[in-house]
Amino acid sequence: MTRRDYSAAAIFKHGLSHHKNWKPVWQDSDPKPSYDAVIVGGGGHGLATSFYLAKNHGMTNIAVLEAGWIGGGNTGRNTTVIRSNYFFPESTAFYNFSLKLYEGLSRELNYNIMFSQRGMWVLAHDRHGSDMLRRSANAMRLNGADADYYDEAGVRKQIPGLNPAPRYPILGGLVQHRGGTARHDAVAWGYARGADALGVDIIQNCTVTGLDVQRGKIQAVETSRGRISTGKVGLAVAGHSSVLAKMAGFRLPIVSYALQAFVSEPVKPVLDTVILAPSTGVYLSQSDKGELVIGAGLDHYASYAQRGSLPMMEHAAAGLLDLFPQFSRMRFLRQWAGIVDIMHDSTPVVGHSPVDSLYLNCGWGTGGFKAIPGGGYCFAHTIANDRPHELTAPFSLQRFETGALIDEASASGIAH
Ligand SMILES: Cc1cc2nc3c(=O)[nH]c(=O)nc-3n(C[C@H](O)[C@H](O)[C@H](O)COP(=O)(O)OP(=O)(O)OC[C@H]3O[C@@H](n4cnc5c(N)ncnc54)[C@H](O)[C@@H]3O)c2cc1C
Repeated sequence: MTRRDYSAAAIFKHGLSHHKNWKPVWQDSDPKPSYDAVIVGGGGHGLATSFYLAKNHGMTNIAVLEAGWIGGGNTGRNTTVIRSNYFFPESTAFYNFSLKLYEGLSRELNYNIMFSQRGMWVLAHDRHGSDMLRRSANAMRLNGADADYYDEAGVRKQIPGLNPAPRYPILGGLVQHRGGTARHDAVAWGYARGADALGVDIIQNCTVTGLDVQRGKIQAVETSRGRISTGKVGLAVAGHSSVLAKMAGFRLPIVSYALQAFVSEPVKPVLDTVILAPSTGVYLSQSDKGELVIGAGLDHYASYAQRGSLPMMEHAAAGLLDLFPQFSRMRFLRQWAGIVDIMHDSTPVVGHSPVDSLYLNCGWGTGGFKAIPGGGYCFAHTIANDRPHELTAPFSLQRFETGALIDEASASGIAH
């Protein structure tokens, strides 16, 4: 398969045969007995890692092992918000890099990921919130990200239709205009297509059931489709990171929770940006199909149960209606959950594990969709060179020993 597959000429040529002769976008490969490297997890991070391993580091004898179907985890379940509105320089440098990669990704992959930089707003509901957001705006600008703070009049001018008398007053808002949304499946499919074209084996319905570690070094992975020997393993399994770490004999400072999302029935265009109301934790945007895409906070208890619940739906609906009472007669169309991997400082881990040649990409929590291009890029660098990329060097597991935490939870207020 070549990049020219989606050229105007190719589309015209396939049109002549009623589009019946397109090749599969990626091969559904069978596992080989050994690979130079194995990536566990066929979400956005695993697929992007395999793409950059092949493209940037020439490693093509590699496989991505996915227990279900690619993108079937959090990558295909998130609310697709992309932004880099963090506080600390380390975070902003990384998320800005990822945002920049997103800006060129459709071209890079020759696959339309429907990236829409429609802006991302965080509202202030009290004086403390307003001070926090002004501080965040200044920090973001100092760290090279775009940010503007508006007072209430400025917010209402740019987001028409906001409740004139909400339960939680709107005192102002921070906007990152370069933020926005992208189609989540397309990000997974685009990276899968790109990786496949470079020779990567993408193996679905292949669950990793064991990690063979001998003398402190990874030797092989045991899977539902047999044993695979390999010199390097990268884990990118999000909410199941602790499960895989246990297979290798160590523990991670991660707690897994369900995070839910909802979409309404589709309506005509009513909202051209993304809005987060920290008072309720509810945020929303409108998809290109017209559905309102609504997210809220984590479930309040740790769990691996990947399903929605009525109390959270009620909470999301209440938060939504506080912002836009005019949506009160819309109906919910779907509700679902993903299992997210929460670190105590709301910063991920991209780097070495306690086991030689076993690498970690985890802890993205509720915010790793925006990090997929950057996370894949830097994780590939780490696996190929056995040393961290400079952008993710601060995101090591060792920070829990040294105390060099990057506490975005208290700094930018990104709580999870
Ligand atoms: C409801 C919701 C809303 C969200 N909203 C946003 C948002 O707006 N913006 C944002 O930036 N982020 C958001 N996120 C977070 C984001 O989706 C995740 O951080 C990101 O998708 C993580 O990508 P991943 O590739 O690491 O994980 P995943 O996409 O979950 O991929 C991990 C894969 O590993 C596989 N796996 C697990 N165990 C095994 C095993 N033993 N063997 C083989 N494979 C295995 C799983 O099947 C899964 O497909 C949201 C998440 C949820 C759930």
